[in-house]
Amino acid sequence: MMNISPLHYELTPEDPFSHQFHVTLTIDNPDPDGQVISLPNWIPGSYLIRDFSKHLLDLTAETRSGRQLSIEPKSSSEWVLEPTTETVWVEYRIYAWDLSVRSAHFDQTHAFCNGTSVFLSVQGKTKVPHKVTLNATDFTDEHHWRVATSLPRIDVNAEGFGEYQAESYQDLIEYPIEMGSFLELSFDAVGIPHRIAITGRFSHEKLDRERLLHDLQRICETELAMFGSPYPFQEYLFQVTVVENGYGGLEHTNSTALICAREHLPFQAGTDPKRYMEFLELCSHEYFHSWNVKRIKPRVFLESDLSKPAYTRQLWWFEGVTSYYDGLFLHRAGLITEDEYLNNLAQEMTRVYRMPGRFRQSVAESSFHAWTKFYQQDENAPNAIISYYTKGSLIALALDLIIRQATQNTKCLDDVVLRLWEQKGEPNVGLEEGEIEQICEDISGLDLRSFFDRYLYDTNDLPFEEMFAPFGMGFSLRAATSLSDKGGKTDSDESLLTLGANVIDTEHQTVKVTHVWNYMTAERAGLAAGDEIVALNAFKVSNTKSLEQWLRTYSVGESVSCHFFRRDELFQSTLYFEQSVKDRVVLSRESDQTQLRWPLK
Ligand code: ZN
Repeated sequence: MMNISPLHYELTPEDPFSHQFHVTLTIDNPDPDGQVISLPNWIPGSYLIRDFSKHLLDLTAETRSGRQLSIEPKSSSEWVLEPTTETVWVEYRIYAWDLSVRSAHFDQTHAFCNGTSVFLSVQGKTKVPHKVTLNATDFTDEHHWRVATSLPRIDVNAEGFGEYQAESYQDLIEYPIEMGSFLELSFDAVGIPHRIAITGRFSHEKLDRERLLHDLQRICETELAMFGSPYPFQEYLFQVTVVENGYGGLEHTNSTALICAREHLPFQAGTDPKRYMEFLELCSHEYFHSWNVKRIKPRVFLESDLSKPAYTRQLWWFEGVTSYYDGLFLHRAGLITEDEYLNNLAQEMTRVYRMPGRFRQSVAESSFHAWTKFYQQDENAPNAIISYYTKGSLIALALDLIIRQATQNTKCLDDVVLRLWEQKGEPNVGLEEGEIEQICEDISGLDLRSFFDRYLYDTNDLPFEEMFAPFGMGFSLRAATSLSDKGGKTDSDESLLTLGANVIDTEHQTVKVTHVWNYMTAERAGLAAGDEIVALNAFKVSNTKSLEQWLRTYSVGESVSCHFFRRDELFQSTLYFEQSVKDRVVLSRESDQTQLRWPLK
């Protein structure tokens, strides 16, 4: 006989001041040999072992008749309950003090949690329905808290407290839960209801709601139109947390959790258009993931074992292609001009050309080693690795150009995405290594083995000058004109001497080195990450601006003495200036008269 009686969790935001959720879990028919329960070690979409169980407290279990059961740890995130045939009641608390989209956070202003942080998984019962009751408390009533989640509702009150149900454990962890007094807005895109719940401190009155709703709707409709019906969800939720500084998101099947800075939002006056477009790009990115990675996904992500890493070489596709499209959709949706799009793209490309690590690690390796390298970047990252997001997006761009050229603009990268959606996403079968490359060959009609060998599995730079030319586009590299130069077009014709280091201002008026590029001026002078530059040419250097001024007064071939502290020890050295490195990308339209079209059709 199959046991399909659901598991039942009750989640209570018990104490905002000690940041603790209270959770109970009822298991009918537990494993008579000793029920195993566990908490995931990672959350899908974020490839790092996070050991969520470190925040689990007060774990106890008893039978329906009230007999306390002993609990034996099996590993740091698994426990075995004393054998019983009675219904079991498990009780525990979760400490929630990580204000990020990946775990849980709870204080007097709001509560947010991912299922991977709060819900124990029950071995052998991960496929049964998982019922969740969200309980209000005196505190949440008093402060008029409501719930924002896309968990399927069974029986909830006006505030959203009550009963929900997911199909399985894997389904359950797809719906982060926000509780608080957030601002909720809504719009329809092709008839599908979309909600935005914005939590955090900002002026609700001054938010330009009309603009936000209009722009988000345009993005969602443009993406939905590309894929067409049947659409993958019946409703969608943007859960936004607004803070002083922050930028990031995590994709889920019909929602996304985002974190952003106040300046990313549009207000009736004083909106920073660049920051706001960054926010829209983030929304566009996570929304695209609804298809690309949540449904079209690597085979190893179909039913991931969340106790250990799931390795794939395909993240270049899932993050790179998504990064390529996030900005492109802003242009397709009419929210940025071609010029703005090209400049954003040039800055994105610059991030790749500034990484000498791109000659040491291929994008496929970057994906495979995401767990230890990309997600655990240190001061040597620019020299050691390449991002599967940024260089992955350049491979996506190159494929788009190649397919357009090979098919006289009758096909483009969209056709690859759509084929993947039809064959792998909609039917929910995972992708084996190499299958994406095969579909790119089918759509383009080209043998692309050497392309993927050179640019995906090896470390060569993509030949963009050559690739862009038939489209009337110019690609060039120039030297930086300031320390904060991100690439793209510039009005300045002054190029700056290359220091070969990233520097930031400190609060005590020195300049701190954060990253040193291999085999360049700073490294040759013996500077290392963490060092604080205090003087050049025996004059005090108080901030990056004055350092930049000094760099402007010297020429190639000259040198300057440099004093710096490493820990509390003073060092003296000399910076020798060489030819400036050309690592800033510029894109420009050279001709409108070409037959081949890009970025639009
Ligand atoms: Zn992403």
